Amino acid sequence: MHKQIRVLIGLFVGTGAGYIYMGYLYSPTFCIEFGWYVALLGVSFWGYTLHRTYIKEEMDTHKQDRWLKQLQVFLFIYFSMWTVMFIIYVVRPDLQLHYVAIATQLGVVVVSATILASQKKLATLTLVTLMLPLTVYFVLMGEAFSYLLAFFTVVLGGVLLYAAHNTFSYLIKSQYQAYHDYLTSLGNRRFFIELLENAMKMQKHEKKHLYLLLIDLDHFKTINDSLGHDVGDALLREVSARMSFLSQKYKNTVSRLGGDEFCVLSELYESKEACFTAANHCANKLLAGIKESYVIGEHHLYISASIGVSIISNPELSATVFIKEADIAMYEAKTQGRNGIIFFNDALSQRVERKLEIERFLHFSLKNKEITLNYQPQVTLEGKIIGCEVLARWENDKLGSVSPAEFIPIFEKTGFIVELGYEVLKASFQTLKAWEEKGIVLQQFSVNISMRQMFHPSFVSDVKQLCQTYLRKEQCAKLIFEITENSVAEDVKLLIMNMHRLQEYGIRFSMDDFGTGYSSLSYLRQLPLDEIKIDKSFIAELNHPNQADKGFIDTIFAIARNLKLRVVAEGIETIEQQHYLQEQGCDILQGYYFSRPLKKEAFEHFFFEASLSHA
Ligand code: C2E
Ligand code: MG
Ligand code: MG
Repeated sequence: MHKQIRVLIGLFVGTGAGYIYMGYLYSPTFCIEFGWYVALLGVSFWGYTLHRTYIKEEMDTHKQDRWLKQLQVFLFIYFSMWTVMFIIYVVRPDLQLHYVAIATQLGVVVVSATILASQKKLATLTLVTLMLPLTVYFVLMGEAFSYLLAFFTVVLGGVLLYAAHNTFSYLIKSQYQAYHDYLTSLGNRRFFIELLENAMKMQKHEKKHLYLLLIDLDHFKTINDSLGHDVGDALLREVSARMSFLSQKYKNTVSRLGGDEFCVLSELYESKEACFTAANHCANKLLAGIKESYVIGEHHLYISASIGVSIISNPELSATVFIKEADIAMYEAKTQGRNGIIFFNDALSQRVERKLEIERFLHFSLKNKEITLNYQPQVTLEGKIIGCEVLARWENDKLGSVSPAEFIPIFEKTGFIVELGYEVLKASFQTLKAWEEKGIVLQQFSVNISMRQMFHPSFVSDVKQLCQTYLRKEQCAKLIFEITENSVAEDVKLLIMNMHRLQEYGIRFSMDDFGTGYSSLSYLRQLPLDEIKIDKSFIAELNHPNQADKGFIDTIFAIARNLKLRVVAEGIETIEQQHYLQEQGCDILQGYYFSRPLKKEAFEHFFFEASLSHA
């Protein structure tokens, strides 16, 4: 539309010059009318400056509105002057301007009607000021044909007006649809990006600061899935209304980016600190507001949100960069247990960058044989090696050595853990077989298994096939699968069923990192477990002479005895820790105090050395 208005201004400036020229040619009283021409020239010049402003200045939405209003005033004055001059000239018999006037008038009408179609007020103004004098002119001619022409002019005017109005309302409607969300009537992603871009232009100009909040509702999908989409939609409407209400106080704008994701953009702030404080305040208010209960039909619902905050101080970057930053912070809030607010910062960005790099390289890790296995000895209270835990190691040219604590969660998230887990099982079974052939006979052989593997449809049959390929029955009976209670199974029945199916091959189960998860005792009782592993964080606490920590370990032993489970303590680093656990009657010990995780050959060496010293 703005390009069209530019053309229009050019057109008016051109015709203004034309009128002056016509006036000069035909008016014998040029001097009297000189003032009139100067005024016209002045208005034309004003039109030209408006045109320059449009080209030169970067305007935000407020400035654009002001500019458009000025343009309307300009056009009104211009058309009025034009009309007055038209009437003065055409009624003078000494000037044969009829045909020129008619042709010009009609040409301008058509051009204006087309160009101004998107501006309802301008279209009405243009058409009325142009068609009215033309009609009057035809009537004044007093001929039969001129009355006919007057009639057609009115009809044409009406038709053009009607067309302009309809186009206008259509444009308004499609413009609204293109920029708004149908469900909540909030601005949509496109609206938000343009709003942000405009705000950033202002910010650049005035050297101020802005903040952006990205809000994602927690577990909204569960509401949609369990109560239906109608309830979900109603909840989204309520949440948006609540957020809009709360944001009014801060003069912030709320938009819906899609699904259950919303964005809030602030006003400009003088200092970064003020912006930070306001962002914190607003985010907390929104979080508290969203968490208040909702009544939808017969349902009383509660929902929380995760909020990512990005402070915009560098307008050189693009708007999408800041949305991305807030998105990263929002995901961090989700990872940290949801229902929270996280501000984007450089450390966070580096962590995300590293995660993305790991994700990029993980697909090649198996093909390039970058993943190897280490084996950490497990010993009896007498110090005899009776087993080992298999631990994965990843060495990558670009990333260096990546700890499983870092890569396993990413492999789990991407689902790649299933493939990795299969390879780990295969390599460990081969090792177990090879060791038995070499005389390294262990009583148990522990492998970490992710919950995603446990639930994978082909897991049980894969394990069965690997067992048949590499191991004898009595070797299978040495296998212990370590599962973690952090990932409490959503489908306990399926988990138990799969555990029972694996038990048929003699495989036993251990609850790893015991005490750090959220599983209830009843859940623990249902699972067919053989062993629990006290998490190393509790063992580390034994260094502090705090009775409460010791009491906690004693409780774990009491639970284990009650459930008739063996106890493995991992992460033993000192002789004091070893003694304490011995006193408690711990069954198996594991930790750097005995040995760090070792490469296959190193473990073999360690085993034979230890056997010699025990012999
Ligand atoms: P986890 O199963 O609890 O393994 C024990 C972790 O404690 C290992 O870390 C081990 O190196 C470390 N550790 C052992 N003794 C000590 C000690 O005395 N002091 C200290 N500070 N640490 C000790 P690692 O190898 O970094 O493994 C971290 C976690 O990654 C494992 O925790 C396990 O959950 C996971 N993981 C490792 N390999 C695999 C795998 O093949 N599959 C799956 N699903 N997870 C794995
Ligand atoms: Mg483990
Ligand atoms: Mg553990």
